[in-house]
Amino acid sequence: MRRDGTNSEAVNMEDVLCDYCHSTWTMDRPMVEGHHGSCICGSCLKMAYASTQIGESGDAVDGAPIKCTMCLEDREGTCFQSPAYPDAMICLRCIKMAAKALGRDPDSNWTAPADTANP
Ligand SMILES: [Zn+2]
Ligand SMILES: [Zn+2]
Repeated sequence: MRRDGTNSEAVNMEDVLCDYCHSTWTMDRPMVEGHHGSCICGSCLKMAYASTQIGESGDAVDGAPIKCTMCLEDREGTCFQSPAYPDAMICLRCIKMAAKALGRDPDSNWTAPADTANP
């Protein structure tokens, strides 16, 4: 998401906030952008990935259709809900796409949690 009052002609890094924890985009916090300026940061993506791919935490939601904050599509099935901001949801497809994008970016230093558990 964008900070309130952001000049859309000149968006700075500090104007870009993670929809899932409302942290600012910084050099050591990579972000993946979804539609309409929605964003997920590397650490939220790790949480989302761990809860949906590894079943590590209880934040994965199953069943009721949700609107994914990243792709704005109605989804059924596994998704991740932000523990801090319950309105922020991300569907499994977006988690996978974001993980792939960040995993490929050498500057992001991001690896999927499964890789760190099983090196
Ligand atoms: Zn975040
Ligand atoms: Zn999605």
